[in-house]
Amino acid sequence: MTTILVTGGAGYIGSHAVLALQRRGYEVIVLDNLVYGHRDIAEKVLKVELVVGDISDRSLLDDLFATRNIAAVMHFSAYAYVGESVSDPAKYYRNNVVGTLTLLEAMAAASVQKFVFSSTCATYGMPETIPIPENHPQNPINPYGATKLMVEQILKDFEAAYGLKSVSFRYFNAAGADPTGLIGEDHHPETHLIPLILLAALGKRDSISIFGTDYPTRDGTCIRDYIHVTDIAQAHVLGLEYLLQGGETEIFNLGNGNGFSVREMIATAQAVTGREIPVALGDRRPGDPPSLVGSSEKARKSLGWHPQYSDLSQIVSHAWQWHQQRHE
Ligand code: UDP
Repeated sequence: MTTILVTGGAGYIGSHAVLALQRRGYEVIVLDNLVYGHRDIAEKVLKVELVVGDISDRSLLDDLFATRNIAAVMHFSAYAYVGESVSDPAKYYRNNVVGTLTLLEAMAAASVQKFVFSSTCATYGMPETIPIPENHPQNPINPYGATKLMVEQILKDFEAAYGLKSVSFRYFNAAGADPTGLIGEDHHPETHLIPLILLAALGKRDSISIFGTDYPTRDGTCIRDYIHVTDIAQAHVLGLEYLLQGGETEIFNLGNGNGFSVREMIATAQAVTGREIPVALGDRRPGDPPSLVGSSEKARKSLGWHPQYSDLSQIVSHAWQWHQQRHE
């Protein structure tokens, strides 16, 4: 059996990747410091081997690579709150950049040469064209996006120096939950739109605030490209297998190619849940571009990636199924 190390495998996107790998017959080891990851999801639901530790712990990494026959690493562990990255950039540069550098150095030392990286559309900054292709200029407007761009640069240099091959995925807005209802999104604190709308539908929050109603969009609210987390996970398995078969370093966007506004998301959630969702109109959130929609043609063509759950109601209904069971 081929063994894959998944960092951050107890978190939202990482746990879905673990499930996708298990379903394909891989042996998975999760490395997670459990700052944001969930022990119960890893141990009780996924029943995966969990190593509790940090990507910046070089001796732990050396030990893992020396004692286990790890074929590749999928790297999800990162801090990902844009607002916090602005107020506490050191935390982001230390974990997302320095931590990743430690992980990559340990890989190079152990001759583990395949790396699947969780990057982000936040590396593009303000879009000049929509949908955004992979060759769009990268000018991140917050430290979170900057940390991910730095890792992309490090990966180029590590390939030149050590032959490390990587696939980086720049995600748009990860959303939804595994269709079985086994796992889903559970951040503390929660800042993402769909979970916040559903928590309001459950009565766990008073209302959902719309951050800005005066954007130059069709209804004045921000437009985003919501992509099902199971489709993201599937792309990671395809990216991994591409590398295991000898593929060259590549970068792919992962999005649906369709944008939906905040108001459209709330209306969809109202229809899916059948519940009244109280709405509050708020100010713009600093750093939010009006519209972010990605072109994922490259992943479709090169990896044969076919998103299965591109219907917005289905994405929201999978998230709803998970939130009801987690919170009601
Ligand atoms: N948003 C909102 N109210 C909230 C949270 C988010 O109006 O309580 C908006 C946000 O401004 C953005 C969209 O919803 O336009 C998606 O935000 P999210 O934080 O989910 O993801 P991001 O686009 O920041 O990665």
